Amino acid sequence: MAARMCRCNRDSAPMTPAELAEIRTAVTKLCADFPGEYWRALDRERRYPTEFVRALTEAGYLSCLIPEQYGGSGLGLSAACAILEEIQASGANGAATHAQMYIMGTLLRHGSDAQKRQYLPKIATGELRLQAFGVTEPTAGTDTSSIRTTAVRQGDRYIVNGQKVWTSRAEHSDLMLLLARTTPRDEVAKKTEGMSVFLVEMRAALGKCLSIRPIRTMINHSTTEVFFDNLEVPAANLLGEEGKGFRYILEGMNAERILIAAECIGDARWFVAKATAYANERRVFGRPIGQNQGIQFPIARAYMSMRAAALMVERAASLYEQKQPCGAEANMAKQLGSEASWQAADMCLQTHGGFGFAEEYDVERKFRETRLYLVAPISTNLVLSYIAEHVLGLPRSY
Ligand SMILES: Cc1cc2nc3c(=O)[nH]c(=O)nc-3n(C[C@H](O)[C@H](O)[C@H](O)COP(=O)(O)OP(=O)(O)OC[C@H]3O[C@@H](n4cnc5c(N)ncnc54)[C@H](O)[C@@H]3O)c2cc1C
Repeated sequence: MAARMCRCNRDSAPMTPAELAEIRTAVTKLCADFPGEYWRALDRERRYPTEFVRALTEAGYLSCLIPEQYGGSGLGLSAACAILEEIQASGANGAATHAQMYIMGTLLRHGSDAQKRQYLPKIATGELRLQAFGVTEPTAGTDTSSIRTTAVRQGDRYIVNGQKVWTSRAEHSDLMLLLARTTPRDEVAKKTEGMSVFLVEMRAALGKCLSIRPIRTMINHSTTEVFFDNLEVPAANLLGEEGKGFRYILEGMNAERILIAAECIGDARWFVAKATAYANERRVFGRPIGQNQGIQFPIARAYMSMRAAALMVERAASLYEQKQPCGAEANMAKQLGSEASWQAADMCLQTHGGFGFAEEYDVERKFRETRLYLVAPISTNLVLSYIAEHVLGLPRSY
């Protein structure tokens, strides 16, 4: 297991390539304790990788974005990207843990000092897990401003009613970052106003005014539906100002997209390495299949797509760290990364022929897992329409 990550007193300063390389090596070493058999068994039983999450937490990786004063390492987004990329490149599935990194930003940017002091040190030690992100609802879909979950202020608390869907890791998290409507949609000037963000302590309410129903999916993602029935949330758990929640969530989405893109690069690297190894070793017609250009070229193409997408991820993370506008780059990184990982997944399965379908090769599992990123956290069409409208100046389509 890796030693606890060093605290370098840098407060989100960009890291040097050598420092990033050191993190990558240490993460790869930690992941070696969690080989394919481990992930296969979890996938079969749809279990949460508790041991893996604990190991990452103890080594300090999941608190890399938490400032040192609250018990984290105070590193920047590039470090978080390097960690998630290496997790995926090792064959693991970081989806069980990645939310803590991108949800954190909302608490860091908009939380009060008291909220940060109360929660961040415990998140850093792993005493509390902040892994649940409650935004999507069944009837609203991508149109977040149409959410129906409400939080109504009563004295020193809010009463929450409604439902979320696809709230991943809710059963394995102590805290949820929740977006709810605090002013009815017909009482606000713009539909994106009147929503607020709360940090919800889920454990005490579970089974009473909060219930969680798992959704079985084609991947092991611990995703759920969450129901709120007069859930009381202390007003002290409102993050930032009431009514500004949509903007807070949007701000956090750039980080989320860049981090997911980094995971896609890791997946693509895994598929390319796996396919290359198999193409060198598998002999048919008396020679390695990799000697055929029909096998070589798709591997080479997938490799090039991965490298190109990685440059966009690097660029987006660098802009983010310099506090520069990065909406276009974050979206492009997510899109190019997810397309590169899907291209590599398809190529890897094809290279393996029938064995690509066999569980023991891990290809079919990673193939299913990486497909998610063309849909979540934002689907392809929505990225394309963002670029069309906000970068190219084409008419707004929705
Ligand atoms: C496994 C999994 C885990 C998830 N985890 C979380 C989580 O932890 N927290 C959370 O809040 N959400 C989560 N999500 C939700 C995810 O972010 C959404 O599924 C995703 O953003 C797409 O929204 P939707 O499913 O409602 O699709 P919809 O909005 O219903 O869209 C369906 C299809 O129509 C397309 N479409 C919609 N509108 C337009 C338009 N105007 N123009 C062109 N095409 C359009 C979309 O691109 C999409 O392909 C998760 C989803 C999955 C599958």
